[in-house]
This record gives sequence, C-alpha cells and structure tokens, in this order.
Amino acid sequence: MLLKKLEIKGFKSFGDKVTLNFDKGITAVVGPNGSGKSNVVDAIRWVLGEQSTKALRSEKMDNIIFNGTKSRRPLQMAEVYLTFINNKNLLPTEYTEVTIGRRFYRSGEGEYSLNGVPCRLKDIHSLFLDTGIGSDSYAIIELKMIDELLNDTQNARRTLFEEAAGISKFKKSKKETLKKLKDTDADLERVDDLLFEVE
Ligand code: ATP
Repeated sequence: MLLKKLEIKGFKSFGDKVTLNFDKGITAVVGPNGSGKSNVVDAIRWVLGEQSTKALRSEKMDNIIFNGTKSRRPLQMAEVYLTFINNKNLLPTEYTEVTIGRRFYRSGEGEYSLNGVPCRLKDIHSLFLDTGIGSDSYAIIELKMIDELLNDTQNARRTLFEEAAGISKFKKSKKETLKKLKDTDADLERVDDLLFEVE
C-alpha cells in the first residue's frame, strides 16, 4: 500500500489548497521553523480521525481551521483528503485507490468521507484497523511515542506489537461482544423481574 497524495485546504496554516504528491521513494518536507511542516503531519493524523486536540497541538478543535493572517480573513471550514493506492489489497475494499476525507466547520459540525461518499468515523477506523495506519498507530511516529515505547508506559510496546500482528481487531470485537452479552444479561434480568411481577 502506498500513500499517493494529501490535499489540505483551510487546515491550520494552509489557507490555500495545497496538494502533496508522494512519488516513489522517500518524501521529505523541509522548511524554516514555524513554516508548517508539523501541520502536514497533523493533517494526516486528523483525516485519519484524530479526536484529541492535544495530539493535534491545538487548544480546541476550532483552532485547526485557518485563522487568517494580517491580509487574509479566517476560513469557515477545514478539509483534508488522503489518497492511498491499495495495490496489495491491505485495505478491505475492492477499490485500488482509496481516498478518505474529513471536513470541519466553525459551527462545530464535521463529516468524513470514503471515496467521496459520506461515512462514519467508525468506517474509517474499520478500514484501517490492523494495517498499522491510523491516527494513533505506529505509522506516525513522534518523539513522544519513542519515549512511551522506551518507558513502556500503559503497555505501549504490547499495543504496538498487537497492532502489527493484526490482533487488535479481534480484541476490539471481543470487547464489543462482551458488552453486548452484558447488556443482554441485564435485559434478561429485567424480563425476569417483570415476569415475577405479572405472576
Ligand atoms: P518547527 O520546525 O519549529 O517545528 P514547523 O514548520 O513544524 O515548525 P508548524 O508547527 O507545523 O511549523 O506550524 C506552525 C505555524 O502554523 C505557526 O506559524 C502558526 O501560526 C500556524 N498555525 C497553526 N494553526 C493555525 C491556524 N489555525 N491558522 C493559521 N495558522 C496556524
């Protein structure tokens, strides 16, 4: 699987639409301090569904929308699109090219899309589960993560190996199923109570 391109508009310092095409080999983003290099990584993290403003180095979600400059007015919406070439069918979809998108408005509303079709954040999470790609996966490594891995805080190493080994999705469905079982048990208890009252 390859990253093909990243399109950013209205996100942080990107008032104008910027398209980054990732050709073969390594792509390096260079620029002076404060020119927006880390904002590119934030954009990737954000479109993958990042919900934590802290991880996006922002105080609140509004702040990820272009705030304007002396000569430009702030924008009302941020949007980011990330396109993958699904050449090895790692993504569970028949499409060979997959574009995920996210929009966020100052009103607080937001939406996600998959190949142009509106979708839920859950769909984006399911698509990338166990691929190593995700807002909190090992595909995006920042300095803080290296510290976490070395110190093994909150079982960070185990979580990383589980994601790489492809068992995170089973753990997630086990957790969901156990919750359903618990809810069903509670419903059954309620039915018993009602039957007892009726009898
Ligand atoms: P360094 O090399 O120092 O880490 P950098 O190139 O990684 O810098 P970033 O941290 O990506 O730079 O970008 C910081 C810039 O982004 C600052 O100039 C900041 O004003 C700008 N910025 C952040 N959020 C917004 C926003 N919502 N609207 C406009 N500009 C923003």
